[in-house]
Amino acid sequence: MSNTSNNYIQKYKMKVFNELVKLAWFGKLEEEIEELPQKIIENIQDEKERKIVENYIRLSMGLDPVKSDRSLREEARQALSLDKVKKPLVSVIENICERCNRFHEGSCPIHSHDCMSTDECIGCGQCIEECSLGAISDKIEFIPVVNLLQEKKYPVFAAIAPAYVGQFDPSITPGKIRTALKMIGFSDMIEVATFADILTMKEAYEYKHIIENNKDFFITSCCCPVWVGMIQKKYPSLLDHMSPAVSPMIAAGRVIKALNENAKVVFIGPCIAKKNEAKEENLADAIDFVLTFRELYEIFNALDIDLENLPEDNREEAAFAGRIYARTGGVSKAVELTVKRLDPRSDLPFKPEAFDGAKKCKDGLDKLLAGEMDATFIEGMGCIGGCVGGPRTINSIEEGSKRVDEYANATPMKTPFDNLNALQFLAQLGIKRYEMLKNNEDEKIRNLLIRNVEK
Ligand code: SF4
Repeated sequence: MSNTSNNYIQKYKMKVFNELVKLAWFGKLEEEIEELPQKIIENIQDEKERKIVENYIRLSMGLDPVKSDRSLREEARQALSLDKVKKPLVSVIENICERCNRFHEGSCPIHSHDCMSTDECIGCGQCIEECSLGAISDKIEFIPVVNLLQEKKYPVFAAIAPAYVGQFDPSITPGKIRTALKMIGFSDMIEVATFADILTMKEAYEYKHIIENNKDFFITSCCCPVWVGMIQKKYPSLLDHMSPAVSPMIAAGRVIKALNENAKVVFIGPCIAKKNEAKEENLADAIDFVLTFRELYEIFNALDIDLENLPEDNREEAAFAGRIYARTGGVSKAVELTVKRLDPRSDLPFKPEAFDGAKKCKDGLDKLLAGEMDATFIEGMGCIGGCVGGPRTINSIEEGSKRVDEYANATPMKTPFDNLNALQFLAQLGIKRYEMLKNNEDEKIRNLLIRNVEK
């Protein structure tokens, strides 16, 4: 694969999106969208090329690439009023593959065939990155958010993934990002790491229970949809060892909505798989739209937000534990610290093993199934390096990890039990004793924090 051509395509896609953001934000989308293909490519060669650009535009508005002759103006009207972006979230744009003939071979980290349109697809989004001609593309969900932000009919919250701290220039602090999000109409920015804290408490109780009952090992299930999907689809016999908890993203959406009437929640992260997770049948109540870090960067850019010179709106929201979820080994460390905090005198064993990247996750699960692993806590992250290596990050894995660790070390709150913010959320939800988190049958816990895993 040629990285250069892929970088070029990413820039090209972002140029399309940048133009769309400006048109939608300043109320000119319907009026001027028909001129956009010509603006993107000055000398469009033929009808095929025009259709390709038009389909990038459709995907960037959260719509399917279509074969019909529906005008872009009609499509724009529809995009602005969407209350959900529909699956499929990843599509192949026609007329491009014929220039390559690889038919997506070798682009999937775990299958040797093109799995995209089958049940086997784990949704990692790797094929999008690998396609050097940009034929495979994901939908962008910002255009429908514009109305929400401008109408101000509902409070709209930005739930931002833990990896965000390492993505912008170091001078762009979390406080400036919160200010910028509020400037464009969000009611507030909430760190998803706070909900990683809450789920870490739950997992610590579950780990203790499972090990004390001689089940040998515990699989974290929480944060990564690629890892969860892989276990559900390919290793169902391991489901008994997996936490039934939802991901921090889903917990964030549900808790924000439980505490704020009519709230809408937009998740912002590094991930393509989260776009799918947010639309899963049993989870679709939590998150209204998903954006990525690259998309957020482009939105600020298109709207000329001078991030560097904004005032700070800082807040101490999450503990060390929740903040390090962003990188490989973070979930294991968070649960280990919390298990020790739960019962400092206990001699419960804790032997972690962490896998990153879809290929290593698969190999690790094969070993686990074959009984060739003696770890007691197993963590899996679909991307190399964890979420700091996600497909829609801005910075390198090294820089992202370093800054995540610096941010985590900067807070005096080490475990979720030290995090008054997380404890306050639990109290507001009526969960006054932390031991209640153990009880998966409790109605509040079930509705907010439990996933219905299909076995
Ligand atoms: Fe998404 Fe990758 Fe993070 Fe998994 S590790 S949640 S696939 S960004």
